[in-house]
Amino acid sequence: MSNDRDANPLLGVQFHIPFDRIRAEDVEPAVTELLRQSRSDLAEIARQPGPPGYENTLGALDLVTEPLDYAMAVTRHLESVATYRELRAAFNAVQPPVSAFYTGIPLNSELWQAIKTYAASPASAELTGEHRRYLTKTMDSFRRHGAELDPAGKRQLEALDVELTQLTTKFAENVLDSTNAFELILADEPDLAGLPPTAVESARESAERKGKVGWRFTLQGPDYFSVMTYLDNVAIRRQMYEAYCVRATESERDNRPLIARILELRQQKATLLGFANFADLVLEDRMAHNSARAMAFLEDLKSRTETRFQDENRELIEFRRSIEGAAAPELQPWDVAYYAEKQRAALYDFDEEALRPYFQLENVAAGLFELVRRLYGLRVTEESGVPVWDAQVRYYNVHDESGEFLGGFYADWYPRENKRGGAWMEALITGGPSDPGFRPHLGVICGNLTPPAGGKPSLLIHREVETIFHEFGHLLHHLLSRVETRSLAGTAVAWDFVELPSQIMENWCWERASLDLFARHYQTGEPIPDSLFRKMKRARKFRAANSQMRQLGFGFVDLLLHIRYSPERDGDPVAYTRRIIQKFSPAPLPPDHAMIAAFTHLFASPVGYGAGYYSYKWAEVLDADAFTRFRDGGIFSREVGSDFRTHILSRGDSEDPAELYRRFMGRDPDPRALLERFGLAEVGERQTVMESE
Ligand SMILES: [Zn+2]
Repeated sequence: MSNDRDANPLLGVQFHIPFDRIRAEDVEPAVTELLRQSRSDLAEIARQPGPPGYENTLGALDLVTEPLDYAMAVTRHLESVATYRELRAAFNAVQPPVSAFYTGIPLNSELWQAIKTYAASPASAELTGEHRRYLTKTMDSFRRHGAELDPAGKRQLEALDVELTQLTTKFAENVLDSTNAFELILADEPDLAGLPPTAVESARESAERKGKVGWRFTLQGPDYFSVMTYLDNVAIRRQMYEAYCVRATESERDNRPLIARILELRQQKATLLGFANFADLVLEDRMAHNSARAMAFLEDLKSRTETRFQDENRELIEFRRSIEGAAAPELQPWDVAYYAEKQRAALYDFDEEALRPYFQLENVAAGLFELVRRLYGLRVTEESGVPVWDAQVRYYNVHDESGEFLGGFYADWYPRENKRGGAWMEALITGGPSDPGFRPHLGVICGNLTPPAGGKPSLLIHREVETIFHEFGHLLHHLLSRVETRSLAGTAVAWDFVELPSQIMENWCWERASLDLFARHYQTGEPIPDSLFRKMKRARKFRAANSQMRQLGFGFVDLLLHIRYSPERDGDPVAYTRRIIQKFSPAPLPPDHAMIAAFTHLFASPVGYGAGYYSYKWAEVLDADAFTRFRDGGIFSREVGSDFRTHILSRGDSEDPAELYRRFMGRDPDPRALLERFGLAEVGERQTVMESE
């Protein structure tokens, strides 16, 4: 017993993770030991003592990093939800050697040789299903990471990666510094007219923190968007807009030359690895498979959105004229959000705060558990006494109808100072085959939702309810996995497929019958009044073509820069980008508009969302389309639920996602359901457009 308690708690996978015993000083010794062990296990696989078979090559490779993955996942998790100075320092210290270790795996030539020997052996010809896929994927991935290059090629690849890391890090710093360098201090109260009281108060506090008198506005999201949406003074809106769209172009933090160089390096990397362009390199392993598919997808959605987009823009101009007279000036980019908000208020009179009393967190969670009981026969029960990292955290077990224990999860919903922002799911332990039965999975879902306050329980806005459902969807994808190969299990799927299980859950937050499971007034128990429910549904369609066009425009910029852009032919990448974005914007862009210089999705890391921005819309098409089976077959239908579980939730990446999707839907994805969701569908359209070639 005493031995066990003295052992480093990060060494050895334990299902009930001893969160109460893990300390910052455990991190470095554990990771050092696990790195040593993993290196020696890899060398063992590469040495190939016996004849190569699946178990001593790929099977072993699949398991070799499990203890290290576990220790890193637990440490990363604690650093996200219960951090302190020493823990952050320990985590930062182990990151470089750990990432160098993972990057080095495909470049280990003995290991690559052992895998190739096995792949060429008669034994491997017998492989089917999951094992065959794991072999193919492993070989493709090794090649994409440079395994086939000669020593000079490997050195060139490394040099490209080093420069890309430096440039993209600098890109991110420039955006941050440039954003922070701007402030606007307003000293006269009348200038604040139009702003909601919360925005005024936060601007006052911001000025006070900086020792200034008046109200302070920055270019950070909340400030910027409340000014653009609400502030009456057009000159101030314009000043903020103009500052925002030239971020990271000042001489000392100019990202424009970095963009040109990053694009050049990415193209060189693609060429070196045998791909036509960076987009084809990135997309080989995604559901879209290549850049032509992703482009065709965007083109199609654009053509189906354009008419409504023009209509919306005309309606906005007409709305402005209806309040300011026929002589109202042309709409400028700094006017769009402002008049759109006035139009929204006039049309819908919908205040999302009115829904809050109907969304008490405990009821939402209970409704969600009831939903998955009906759909999948799951039983979710809370267990107390399990070690956690904070008293706010709850732990739950998930059992199947048959009584089988499928896994457990922690839920950590409220903000704290030692916790990072946003919402996410993390897989802590991935189960797999064992004797007897299947080892259970373990995961965690986190958020920063409205906490209980002023004697009231936690009352959420609708977007927060969607967040809970979304993260729970990722969790189901993890907990219901029956994939035997760890590297292909659960949420380890292509980037443009991983949001299907999560986003589809959000659909149940928009249906009357499922809302009635959990949306009850926290004092009276009344369901959401019909008039409020109808307003909420209608408001969802407001200017939906504009938001869709905006996303499509970013998707086009991303793909075109990574496929077609050529500096000789197209000139400056900033001007090139501006010409594209203009087609997706409701108002004329200023000539110095340089939004691309602050587009961190594309350029703030060596890959990031580069050539992958289309995935946002792709996943929306999948979730809207897949939900039509529930809509038509009954939103509580066990039959449809069990199909979804069999073909999607339990299958991870054990088969091509396009094939899994076809198994569930009986056909390829169809974007019509997404267009219908936003009131953009037209009658008599083509049947499907996402079919694979
Ligand atoms: Zn997600």
